[in-house]
Amino acid sequence: MAEKENGKLLTLGVDLGGTKVETALVDVTGRILASRRRLTHPEKGPDGVIAEIVACVESCVAEAGKRAQGIGVGVAGQVDRAGTVRFSPNLGWRNVPLKVRLEEALGMVVVVNNDVRAATWGEWQHGAGQGVDDLVCLFVGTGIGGGIVSGGRLLEGCHNTAGELGHLTIVRGGRHCHCPNRGCLEAYAGGWAIAERAQETVRADPQSGQRLVTLAGSIQQISAATVTQAYREGDAMASRLVEETAQYLAAGVVSIVNAFNPCFLVFGGGVIQGLPDYVSAIERPVRENALKAATENLRIVMAALGDKAGVIGAAALARHKIGKAM
Ligand SMILES: [Zn+2]
Repeated sequence: MAEKENGKLLTLGVDLGGTKVETALVDVTGRILASRRRLTHPEKGPDGVIAEIVACVESCVAEAGKRAQGIGVGVAGQVDRAGTVRFSPNLGWRNVPLKVRLEEALGMVVVVNNDVRAATWGEWQHGAGQGVDDLVCLFVGTGIGGGIVSGGRLLEGCHNTAGELGHLTIVRGGRHCHCPNRGCLEAYAGGWAIAERAQETVRADPQSGQRLVTLAGSIQQISAATVTQAYREGDAMASRLVEETAQYLAAGVVSIVNAFNPCFLVFGGGVIQGLPDYVSAIERPVRENALKAATENLRIVMAALGDKAGVIGAAALARHKIGKAM
């Protein structure tokens, strides 16, 4: 029997990554009633991590003193329609039937999806994209992921992997990516790639890169966050790196808006949250280079839910699936 808050359905959202699992009990308005976060230990294998998820869920439910009708899980990795994690590099998982295992352990309906897809659903239903039927979310963190809502539907693709916008090719034969391709957007503008580019730039011109090295401690410790910090201090090399990153992002976004003609392009993820200047910096090059018809009604906005988009979206996805089944 469904436990309801003011007559409304409650669901749990779980955001599962390689370093932590976060769980939240969420109401129909996207409000978090209780939440819990624990470290994950992928070295314990799927059984250990699943036990950690179950403990996190049980502790969250106990704190709230309420029951949930279902659980949505967003996982960093490829997830098929049966809720099996086909591949998660962060967790070191291949073919883990997460939905089945959690339903057995928790006795509740479980919906498993990719974490970025869940975050897109969160921003669409409860964040920056509310009330819009056509939007694209682009999350720029260590990697770059995305989600596409078109005509009021979240695109899934043939094998449930639609939305891998970080792997759009922006430079043919360009920088090596972590995927088989070269020249991907992520290989230039993902957090790991910003760090790589910054380190190469400093090695080529150590004199101008002094501030970056001082902030990081050594060249190999320069990260995207170091670049952001030096940029804020007005460092010239960091400013050039940020400017170039914005141009790469704009190149990707031009292809995205030409392909999908969204009303909203929602930007989120750690790199963008760390430096919201990126959003305004790409506005002009996107409008100059994309098809006019594709950008006429386009708004480029910041994500609204921050790092809670994943749990809120996962819970909302579960509510959607349960609602359809009733
Ligand atoms: Zn790639």
